[in-house]
Amino acid sequence: MTRRHLTLICIAALALSWAWLPEFTVTMFSYIGLYSMVAAGLVMLTGIGGMTSFGQAAFVAIGAYATAWVCTSPAAAAALGGFVPAGALPWVGLVLGLVLTFAVAWALGAITLKLSGHYLPLCTIAWGLSLYFLFGNLEFLGGQTGITGLPALTVAGLSLASPRALGPLIWAALLLALWALHNLLDSREGRAIRALKSGRVMAESMGVDTARYRVKVFVLAALLAALSGWLYAHMQRFVNPTPFNLNIGIEYLFMAVVGGAGHLWGAVLGATLITLVKEQLQDILPKLLGASGNFEVIVFGLLMLFVLQRFADGLWPTLARWSSRFLKPEPVRAPKSTASLAGRTLPPAGTLLLESDKVTKRFGGLVANNAVAMTLKAGEVHALIGPNGAGKSTFFNMISGVDDPTEGEVRLIGETMNGKPSRDYAARGLGRTFQHVRLLGTRTVLENVAVGAHRRGRHGWIASMLRLDRAEEAALLAEARRQIERCGLGAYADVPAASLALGQQRVVEIARALAGQPAALLLDEPAAGLRHLEKQALATLLSQLRAEGLGILIVEHDMEFVMNLADRITVLEFGTVIAEGTPAEVQVNPRVLDAYLGGSDEPVPMAA
Ligand code: ADP
Ligand code: MG
Repeated sequence: MTRRHLTLICIAALALSWAWLPEFTVTMFSYIGLYSMVAAGLVMLTGIGGMTSFGQAAFVAIGAYATAWVCTSPAAAAALGGFVPAGALPWVGLVLGLVLTFAVAWALGAITLKLSGHYLPLCTIAWGLSLYFLFGNLEFLGGQTGITGLPALTVAGLSLASPRALGPLIWAALLLALWALHNLLDSREGRAIRALKSGRVMAESMGVDTARYRVKVFVLAALLAALSGWLYAHMQRFVNPTPFNLNIGIEYLFMAVVGGAGHLWGAVLGATLITLVKEQLQDILPKLLGASGNFEVIVFGLLMLFVLQRFADGLWPTLARWSSRFLKPEPVRAPKSTASLAGRTLPPAGTLLLESDKVTKRFGGLVANNAVAMTLKAGEVHALIGPNGAGKSTFFNMISGVDDPTEGEVRLIGETMNGKPSRDYAARGLGRTFQHVRLLGTRTVLENVAVGAHRRGRHGWIASMLRLDRAEEAALLAEARRQIERCGLGAYADVPAASLALGQQRVVEIARALAGQPAALLLDEPAAGLRHLEKQALATLLSQLRAEGLGILIVEHDMEFVMNLADRITVLEFGTVIAEGTPAEVQVNPRVLDAYLGGSDEPVPMAA
């Protein structure tokens, strides 16, 4: 039995026993379904996307209030002009709720998601509170009393008035949402989403518009919350501000975190546990203490503390590890490759690819790059060398759009690139690696390399959710695997990237850059940490790429490696170019010798 089988069996068991479950259990399950929906959005947003929100309850409120207003207000009835039969009003409410949520979330997201660190969660608290008080103070939404008299949902003439009737709709919506989110994560777009948490600089360099993706994840989570709110309103048949206060917003976050913030099913686990524990505590504590009061909140807080102390990643990973003893692993279903990927015709050898014109970078008083001029042509290996701190990595960031030069101009295949984001560089044909490797450590080598091919796919979020991207996805993964094998890491394609030696992780970065089919390749210390034979293999690969017409700019400390491989060498010292020429010329240049030997007579090897 695999995990998928077990999931299907559990769903079938719940469906078959639904009619016989006690009223109370049915109600509990319905609430759990509603909470899970919000928590699943938070798993995407917080656990996977790395953006903490305490304010999701506000979006639940928008979903609930929108339908309450449409279904009960005379103004809404007048606006709809009797065109809509009474039974269809809730569906108008749903559309209104989703549209409003979309607009509010997009606006809030565009403003708040620019904030980093603690400011983002603080901001979500701020607007969570504002929206809560807004709902309590709006006269036409009933103020603190709220709105009563909501109709029950009807589907195909069937009234879903009781939780027993509505529950299946709630769970169908939840399972459908989980399925769609699962599909989304298992796609090109999902890989980009996973990079939002810890790999934004990397993802941008691979062509991902991370700011836009962050807003989209935020909107997605908000829409799930609004859907939950709509169902909630028609289950309760009345709405008031209380269930949407900040406490509940915090509780939703707890559900996602306790369940296992990085896992979709963790949302269901967290929602179930917290709903049940709260229910039990509310029951037991007053009897135990002989007094009434909100004691459960206190005990609840202590329990949270304990769980988060013991299970930092939530309970789901622990449960999954334990269950893997009984469950067979999921068979890998490799879709057949049919789609062809966007390709690039490399410019002919000798074409000027990259040009830096008097590029200067100042960090405060420190001049890290001083009017650096350099060119890279198609079909050559150009090495950039210099002692530690000479400004090589800074220069890489200048010419790849990761950072902007203070002065000077950068041109990529004839186009001035100043002020453009690094994803535009990627789009124009630049691939790069980072001195400090930027991989998604828990994801496989294959997935990491596939991020490099992001730009070559076309399918978006909806297509990915509906699995319409499979042919393209197969082509992307096949391309990633091809680059991994080409770089000699075929045996490691399916292991987590973090399990590789650091030197190998650098090679993974090269494979990732190659998956984007670059014309110009920037490698920051690719041979560091490699053993002798691995260095030879890397040199062979780079020679081969040069023969294919790529222009390669390489920063490297291993002088033997550089001298044997490079066609031209530029030497930096204190941010200034002190020499440029063929390896033979540079090796005898007195200024270079001076920089490396520091004017001493000792025969120091030429490595910094
Ligand atoms: P290299 O890669 O040649 O070893 P770097 O480009 O990393 O050198 O650094 C060049 C100089 O710029 C160093 O003195 C470094 O401390 C400084 N530097 C690099 N990045 C920053 C930054 N973000 N802020 C301030 N100083 C920096
Ligand atoms: Mg460096």
